[in-house]
Amino acid sequence: MKVLIVGAGPTGLTLAVELARRNIFARIIDKRDSASTLSRAVGITSKSLELLSHSGVSKRLIEEGVPIQNACIYQDNHLALTLPLHSSTSYFPTILGLPQDRTETILAESLASIGVEVEYKLALNELHEEAQSVIAQLSSGEESSFDLIIGADGVRSAVRQGANIPYPGFDLNEDWSIADVELDDWPHPQMFTLTQTKPGIVAVSVPIGKNRYRFVGNCEKVLEVFPLPLRIHKVRREGVFKISIRQAQSYSKGRIHLAGDAAHCHSPVGGRGMNLGIADAAELAKCIAEGQLDNYSPLRRREDKKVIDITERGRKIVTSQSFLTRLEFSALLAAANHLPFVKRRLSRFVVEF
Ligand SMILES: Cc1cc2nc3c(=O)[nH]c(=O)nc-3n(C[C@H](O)[C@H](O)[C@H](O)COP(=O)(O)OP(=O)(O)OC[C@H]3O[C@@H](n4cnc5c(N)ncnc54)[C@H](O)[C@@H]3O)c2cc1C
Repeated sequence: MKVLIVGAGPTGLTLAVELARRNIFARIIDKRDSASTLSRAVGITSKSLELLSHSGVSKRLIEEGVPIQNACIYQDNHLALTLPLHSSTSYFPTILGLPQDRTETILAESLASIGVEVEYKLALNELHEEAQSVIAQLSSGEESSFDLIIGADGVRSAVRQGANIPYPGFDLNEDWSIADVELDDWPHPQMFTLTQTKPGIVAVSVPIGKNRYRFVGNCEKVLEVFPLPLRIHKVRREGVFKISIRQAQSYSKGRIHLAGDAAHCHSPVGGRGMNLGIADAAELAKCIAEGQLDNYSPLRRREDKKVIDITERGRKIVTSQSFLTRLEFSALLAAANHLPFVKRRLSRFVVEF
């Protein structure tokens, strides 16, 4: 079977690995000059680790990542809740902190070890479907036919646009900012920290390596609003980004299929973007290998929609300026603090959702 994967982010790489271990060797192209060095997604869920365990990728991710043992939540500079992150029923007991570029490198190395190399500096320009195949026009001038083309080419997906698949949803106006920093003497090296300082402003920190942390918040400069004292050794990267909440109307059209950000995008609250892409890719590989491609779009659209909805609810709660919503959130934190079964359920929910 001739399969073309457009995009070598975490979604495209996972798909290529999952196909190759079933003896389907896809071509995988990316318009970038070389592998990305951006740290974007920093939390790998237990579900993703389970999906990547069959190829041996998880073992390497776990060797390198930081298991996040606790979450703590500060409201108005007051520690409202410390939550041990632990699930005894999941594949890995907690969330793993690792920059996305390292996740991608490990996936690409695993792929190369099976004999598949990413073809960089090669973009998909156009595609059109014929009766028995789908034709790709590449930036090199090559025109080739494939049995399947997979768009794992991110939010601005050329595959999705070429197939005329609508991507309904909305864009948020507010700025979000991100900073990757090295800290000296941070007292919580394995802790996820969420802080609510002013009404409507949330800032989060996640450990992603030795003395290395990701900060993200819905403001222009997250390091300026983070309420706890930080001894910053080095700022490795700072930036501002906007958020969209969208989901493709269908993930499949004939011989063309979408996965990852090409199929959906949402806020970083909950850190599920890359993880949904990994789950899409694992399911798509299974459907291709088992000849069950009709199942792919309805199944993954439904699963992704659940997570997008939960993520949106979470974003609205933690960024709400409403006095009542803040009060409700404080009440939930207080209940978790005083009632062990609420704490346990919350902990499992964070690790397993
Ligand atoms: C600042 C930030 C923080 C984030 N934090 C988290 C987090 O903590 N947890 C989480 O799970 N997610 C997070 N995300 C989201 C996560 O990064 C994305 O969901 C993830 O990268 C999606 O992977 P993907 O492979 O689907 O798409 P991408 O990573 O966007 O990869 C798409 C690839 O396709 C290539 N491409 C595009 N067009 C073409 C073309 N025409 N031809 C060939 N190649 C093409 C691109 O060069 C790119 O390499 C974050 C994102 C951002 C921006």
